Parts: sequence; structure tokens; C-alpha cells
Amino acid sequence: MGIDNTDIANMHWQHDLLSSIEVGIVVLDREFNVEVWNQFMENHSSVRPRQINGKNLFEFFPDLDKAWFTRKCEPVFSMRSPAFIIWEQRPYVFKFGTSRPITSTSDVMYQNVTIFPLASLTGKVDKVCVLVYDVTDQALAKQNIEGLNERLREVSRVDGLTGLFNRRYWQERFEREFKMALRHNPPMCAIMLDIDHFKKVNDTYGHHAGDLVIQRLAKLVKLATRETDIPGRYGGEEFAVVLPDTTEKNAFIVAERLRKLVSLDAVQYEDIEIKFTVSIGIAQFLPKYKRSTQWLEDADKALYYAKEHGRNRVALISKIDELKE
Ligand code: GH3
Ligand code: MG
Ligand code: MG
Repeated sequence: MGIDNTDIANMHWQHDLLSSIEVGIVVLDREFNVEVWNQFMENHSSVRPRQINGKNLFEFFPDLDKAWFTRKCEPVFSMRSPAFIIWEQRPYVFKFGTSRPITSTSDVMYQNVTIFPLASLTGKVDKVCVLVYDVTDQALAKQNIEGLNERLREVSRVDGLTGLFNRRYWQERFEREFKMALRHNPPMCAIMLDIDHFKKVNDTYGHHAGDLVIQRLAKLVKLATRETDIPGRYGGEEFAVVLPDTTEKNAFIVAERLRKLVSLDAVQYEDIEIKFTVSIGIAQFLPKYKRSTQWLEDADKALYYAKEHGRNRVALISKIDELKE
């Protein structure tokens, strides 16, 4: 079969198309030898078509997971069904640098890849075409939005002054722990604490000094509790903590440690030292609680008892009940 002018003209524009398109085009045979390697692939890999044509793809790209890629291509050859690889599953198939090194925060090119069958005249699929789309911008935009959303979620959970959970989110967590406790009945404690005579701090030193005291207390609460405990700012100068897997005896030890820590501490404000103390109430979870609020009310009652009995002290609701009986 001879080649006439029409063939040459067709080859010419097809070559132009392959060169100028901003998509990677690779044609592979059954053995993964390269038959077509377009300009896009050359630009991003620095491998020229004349170097790679007729050679095995995996020799040039040792990072490309051979077993995985072969598995992906298998149904394309045998069942003529295309395969898609999206960046969310695998950020890239070919490890290329990004084409926007200055503006981009990523140094790899994220890719969506399509592999589709190329049938010969007899209908047999003996080649596949691999299309590589650069989706770095999309991927980064999506990741930025996700990062932003995560940040928003975090901000909506956290109290601005102290960095502890805010009341709304703390209550959500408390409710979750309560439901867990109802099902499994593990030892678990709720703690309420409140700064003693805090109005006096505000009145004497001003609201700003008061804020510093609240911030300091939040730090001490963090210091005295475990990673798995759930502390939150319940109100102005009131804090609540859930202690999972903790008996009231151990919660008492934690609370006492915190109380002492606070009483030995002082906040430096201008050239004065502000001393402060806290009162703490503890209630261990009891199966009789029908609602989480009953549990918290008991912790609050214990707190009230501690206030009534001199402040700067810890009270357990179970011990108060004993006193009443
Ligand atoms: P008690 O020992 O009985 O707890 O006495 P108290 O003076 O601490 O009384 P109470 O707990 O009712 O006082 C709460 C005070 O805390 C009232 C309010 O002005 C102050 N407060 C609440 N939120 C903030 C805040 O964010 N910053 C400051 N500086 N003060 C606050
Ligand atoms: Mg209060
Ligand atoms: Mg108070």
C-alpha cells in the first residue's frame, strides 16, 4: 500500500494534534512497550519519543508500580472496558513535577488517567491508549477547601479565649459519652469547676485581668487532665470535664491535683500577682441517670456543696448523698 498526499496531510495534522494537546497520550502494546509518546509526556518526563518508542514503559519509570498498573490494564485488553484512575485514589501515575513551580503549593502533578482499548481491524485489542490529565489545580483547590472546612469545623468547636471546647461542642461530646456509658456502664466521671470569688478579680483588677485568669485556669485544666479526657469551657469562668474510664476515686485525685495546682499558681498582671482558687464538683456516672443533664446536675450540686463548705475544695456527689442519708 502506497502513501499518497492525503495520507501525508492526515499524518501531519494528527502529529500537530498529538504535539499541541495538553493531555498526555501514550499507546502501549500487550508487553507494555511504548508505541506513542506525545509532546506532553516528553515535556513532563524529559523522555523523548525516540528514546522510549519500542521500549518497555516500566524500564523508564521504575517508580510506576508494575503489578498494579498491569492489573489495571488487564480488563482493558481482555474485556475492552476502559479503566479510570482518579487522583483521589492515587495522586499520580507518572511522577511528574508540577508545571507551576512558583504559584503551586504542590511539587507533583496530580493526574486523572484513562486507559482505553485500541482495537485492530480484526477487532482484537492489542494496544491500549493511556490519557494523562493534569488536574493539579483542581486537586489543590479541593484540598484547600477541605483544609478550610476542617479549620472551620475546628473553630466552631473551640472557645476563642481558652482554646478548650466551647459549651455547645462539649455538650455534644458529653452526650456521646453518656450514651456510651448507658450501653457499657464503665466507670466515668463528670467534673464541674468554677473560680472562687471571681467577681472580685474582675472588680479589683478589671475584666482583662479576669480573662487572663480564665486562660491560665484553662492551661492548668489541660495540664492536670489526660489526653483522653474532655475538658470544655462551660460558661464564663466555669469549666466541665468528662473523664472516661475513671472511677470517682481517681477523678478525686485528678481534681485535687488541679485544685492544688491552681492554689499554688498566680497570674502575673502588670506588676501584681493575682492568686485564685477553684471549687470542684464530681459525679460518677450512674445507670439511674435517664438523661445526661441529670448526671451534670449532680456534678453541679457537688460543686455547689464545695462552694457552700468553704470553697477551694473538691466534693463528690456520692459523699454528699451519704451525708444526707
Ligand atoms: P463564687 O465563688 O460563688 O463562684 O463567686 P463568683 O464571684 O465567682 O461568682 P460567679 O461564679 O457567679 O461569677 C461569675 C463572674 O464571672 C461574673 C462575670 O462577670 C464573670 N465572667 C464571666 N465570664 C467572664 C469572662 O469571659 N471574662 C471575665 N473577665 N469575667 C467573666
Ligand atoms: Mg460561675
Ligand atoms: Mg465563680
